[in-house]
Amino acid sequence: MVIAVYFCSLIINMIPEFDNTEIAFSYRTTKELKKAQFLFSSMSSPTLTSIGMGLTKWAMAWGLPIKGIIKSTIFNQFCGGETMEEASKTATMLTPYHVGVIMDYGVEGKEGEAEFDKAVPEFVKAIKYAASQKNIPFISLKVTGFGRFSLLEKVHTGSQLAEDEKAEWQRVYNRINTVCKAAFDNNVMVLVDAEETWIQEGVNQLTDAMMEQYNKQKAIVFNTFQMYCHPTLAYLKQSFDTSVAKGYILGAKLVRGAYMEKERRRAAEMGYTSPIQPDKASTDKDYDAAVLFCMQHLDKLALFIGTHNENSCMIAAKYMEDHKIPHNTERVYFSQLYGMSDNISFNLANAGYNVAKYLPYGPVKDVIPYLMRRAQENTSVAGQTGRELSLINKELQRRKSA
Ligand SMILES: Cc1cc2nc3c(=O)[nH]c(=O)nc-3n(C[C@H](O)[C@H](O)[C@H](O)COP(=O)(O)OP(=O)(O)OC[C@H]3O[C@@H](n4cnc5c(N)ncnc54)[C@H](O)[C@@H]3O)c2cc1C
Repeated sequence: MVIAVYFCSLIINMIPEFDNTEIAFSYRTTKELKKAQFLFSSMSSPTLTSIGMGLTKWAMAWGLPIKGIIKSTIFNQFCGGETMEEASKTATMLTPYHVGVIMDYGVEGKEGEAEFDKAVPEFVKAIKYAASQKNIPFISLKVTGFGRFSLLEKVHTGSQLAEDEKAEWQRVYNRINTVCKAAFDNNVMVLVDAEETWIQEGVNQLTDAMMEQYNKQKAIVFNTFQMYCHPTLAYLKQSFDTSVAKGYILGAKLVRGAYMEKERRRAAEMGYTSPIQPDKASTDKDYDAAVLFCMQHLDKLALFIGTHNENSCMIAAKYMEDHKIPHNTERVYFSQLYGMSDNISFNLANAGYNVAKYLPYGPVKDVIPYLMRRAQENTSVAGQTGRELSLINKELQRRKSA
């Protein structure tokens, strides 16, 4: 029945309505929604969240058995599973709703050459799995999963690398290249995530080199542009000009940016001008300008809109509708994180747009940094959590009345 409603509205709706909770949560049972309601209510208290985060760090450091609690709560809400096989079940579950998945091996903070080498086959395995599935068009990676953070910092400053560091940097390049080549061979797209600005130069160098090599016919590799940085809009345009001059298709993944507090704190501590925009309105303005710039150049680039902001998604969706760009063009994808903003993802997919959810997976202890970021960004009642909660409440109420 739910699926029938879904397909009927697929034919009728051209512009999505983000407040249709019946479509948004069609894949969730009432029991699951109640669990999500409890989780978002708990996270809406900054005090509870900060105590919870502190206790989690402490308990993990002391090896206390808290994995079960984390797994059945925040992990289940935001992650696909501990292994690729577990995550693949979540991916399959989304198939009937035309919602795709980005396999995100979410292990963070591992250092050491052995760990970096170990990551490569893990990503190649994810690529091969993605290629065998209908609804997994992308995988994502972080360059810090393949090379030392402090090496990236040094590359960023432009300082001369010592001989052993040059060899180490070459190994980082080789690892990323192995993954991107596997992606190219299997026709799976790769999103290179953006992290802290003080390592971004090295990330850009590597990603540009991969785009130049693998994006001649189609965008296989995407770089991430963080619009909360004031120089990024100009950098996006410059990256586009470079791609045109060198004859490859730019893959542009647009996000606002997830490290704002850390960026501002470091700039204040070290006494340099913060790269972050002066206020939220400036970030929003540049984000939407970047969306429009990319939309206007879709003949030469591919656009990935990574945001939970309804207004930005609506601007993009309307632009496509107004300019008669097919909703399912392979040049445009919308994306939200798994466990968040289903109202945007499922309603866009319902209106025929390409949508893929970021689906992190990995051992519970290794995805903790990711979960901490999700908890932090969900602490404000006025912001994302308030929205998630009100939509969940609305749907629970609707089901009760029905
Ligand atoms: C699919 C996907 C992939 C992502 N990949 C990455 C990635 O690779 N790298 C990364 O850094 N982040 C990534 N993010 C996270 C993203 O950058 C944002 O932190 C998050 O999505 C919230 O922004 P928003 O656009 O969804 O929504 P909104 O709620 O509209 O915006 C919140 C964001 O606005 C900005 N902001 C808030 N207050 C201010 C202020 N006072 N001044 C200036 N700016 C402000 C911040 O970036 C904040 O995160 C990703 C998000 C998604 C959905």
